[in-house]
Amino acid sequence: MRYPEHLIDQIRHQSDIVEVVGEVVSLRRRGSNYVGLCPFHNEKTPSFNVNPERGIYKCFGCGKGGNVFTFLQDYHRLNFPEAVKQLAHRANVPLPEEDTTPQERERIDRQTAAGKAMAEAAAYWHRLLFTEAGKPALAYLRKRGFSEDTIKIFMLGFAPDSWDATLREMDRLGFEIEQLEAAGLVRARESGGHFDFFRNRVTFPIWNVSGRVIGAGARILPGDDNPAKYVNSPQSLIYDKSTALYGLFQARDEIRRKEAVLLVEGYADVIGLYQAGVRNVVAASGTSLTPQQVARLKRYCKRMFLVFDADAAGANAALRGIDTALREDMDVQIVTLPEGEDPDSLVLKQGTKAFEQRLAAAVDAIQFKAELLKRRGEMDAPDSAAQALRSIVSTVALIPDHLKRELHLKRLAETMRIREETLYAELREVNKESTLQQVRRAESSGPIVAREAKRSERAAPQQTAAKGNDAGLSQEEELLLRCALAEPRSFEYIVTQMEERSVEFTSETGKRTFAILLTKAENSADPLNSALSDESISDEDRSILSGLAVDNAEESPNWSRFGVYYEAPSLTKMLDDALSQLLRSACRERLRAVQAQLSKGGGGSDLELLREFQELRRQLSELDERFSTN
Ligand SMILES: [Zn+2]
Repeated sequence: MRYPEHLIDQIRHQSDIVEVVGEVVSLRRRGSNYVGLCPFHNEKTPSFNVNPERGIYKCFGCGKGGNVFTFLQDYHRLNFPEAVKQLAHRANVPLPEEDTTPQERERIDRQTAAGKAMAEAAAYWHRLLFTEAGKPALAYLRKRGFSEDTIKIFMLGFAPDSWDATLREMDRLGFEIEQLEAAGLVRARESGGHFDFFRNRVTFPIWNVSGRVIGAGARILPGDDNPAKYVNSPQSLIYDKSTALYGLFQARDEIRRKEAVLLVEGYADVIGLYQAGVRNVVAASGTSLTPQQVARLKRYCKRMFLVFDADAAGANAALRGIDTALREDMDVQIVTLPEGEDPDSLVLKQGTKAFEQRLAAAVDAIQFKAELLKRRGEMDAPDSAAQALRSIVSTVALIPDHLKRELHLKRLAETMRIREETLYAELREVNKESTLQQVRRAESSGPIVAREAKRSERAAPQQTAAKGNDAGLSQEEELLLRCALAEPRSFEYIVTQMEERSVEFTSETGKRTFAILLTKAENSADPLNSALSDESISDEDRSILSGLAVDNAEESPNWSRFGVYYEAPSLTKMLDDALSQLLRSACRERLRAVQAQLSKGGGGSDLELLREFQELRRQLSELDERFSTN
């Protein structure tokens, strides 16, 4: 869905960025900005700046920057339309209904209704827990050591031992059967009619990241011989088991703060650890870890601890999790628990310390795999050893960062007492095999894609951390862009002047940034904000753009004079200066090149070079003189 630009502008104008950011970051005023501790990286001194006039934030520590929309997107993990909706709602700006197609509208309505039904059902089960009917369930939860507070925080409940108790309650609350079906709360009978999906079970509502109930997991009570110990909401309009992460809503701030996430197996483990004060914990909801779940967690941190039972099933689950997480470029460590214990029982019996000790003893994923296979005796016979090694190397091959791959192989060679070269040879084999597979896959989908696949295989994945304007802009370029942003009408001036004086932006970043702003300036009085709200702009560019609008006077005191607002005449002068500076550095560059060529000597073009050399010298001294008299 696309909202018209003027509406986006209106919503942005009526939203107070200091208030929106201030809800999650404690801000204090410094000059024209507000500063606080960055919510996107761990820091002790505040480098996160909010500029209320421009409606922009920028972190000079990690480079994150943007406007009120991107803040909601980045912090609360919303997409752009969601951010627009939330802010429109806050600011009381009505959104046009007609922007939505009827099908979209219908889907949204059905989704909303299903979500409401799910939330009501969870609340109903929670209420029942404290009634006569819920007594055994409550007793069970208490026995597991959950306090009343914990039970309330996680809204644990009891789905009654009945075929239609939930159905009847939902009917009483005015929900229709289609809505209950869409929420996965009821099932249709072949003979007609419906029955409750959750019966006679302790219920664990599952939230999405923004705190809406999207489904539930449910466990049998002790003494129940139902073979399905746990059931989860079926895949539905609101619940997708491949992306859902139990506990993420409660854990997200702590994950961000600790810059690490613990993945445990069960709902009770999440709750038990939470109660024990370990709060950066989530569980996959009844699946093995999926790539989508890892991708979601990666938005919060880069380190992941997989916590598993010591038994064979636990180890196998860990092995699968390792491959999934490494492929997504997570740093993965494995925490093993004493035989027969899960995190929940461990903290209950031995306290938080015991768990933290295990955490501190976590081993690197590759080492874990190597040691596990060794323990299983797979390194004893040559045949199985070869296979085991190949399997370990295949896991190493999944790591996108080549430096990390090499370090792993080095260490592996030491612990396995195998020559490093042998492991490298194996890695090459594995890579060749996977490249072949990739190319084959790609070739069946067309020649261009195949070329891309080959290329991407060669190119090591880049990890560029755009840090403010260190990201490749020269001082002159930055000055020019800042001036342009101060007065959008100056874009035209810059373009004509650049042509007239044959000046260009020198860096790729400068060219790209100016091109973005120029395009936006054609349709918007605020090209910067319109660029920041453009979803096709990369994070790196967004970081550069927002850095241009927020002064970081503390870090570079000289920049204070390039504050954002100028009187018109002095602006032209600043622009001229910046353009001349740009020309000056281009001249210098060219002069150096000519000089180098001249000193090499020989060839008939010397005379021409010499002439160019003199011309450049003349230009430069003119420019130098101009700036020294300023
Ligand atoms: Zn930051």
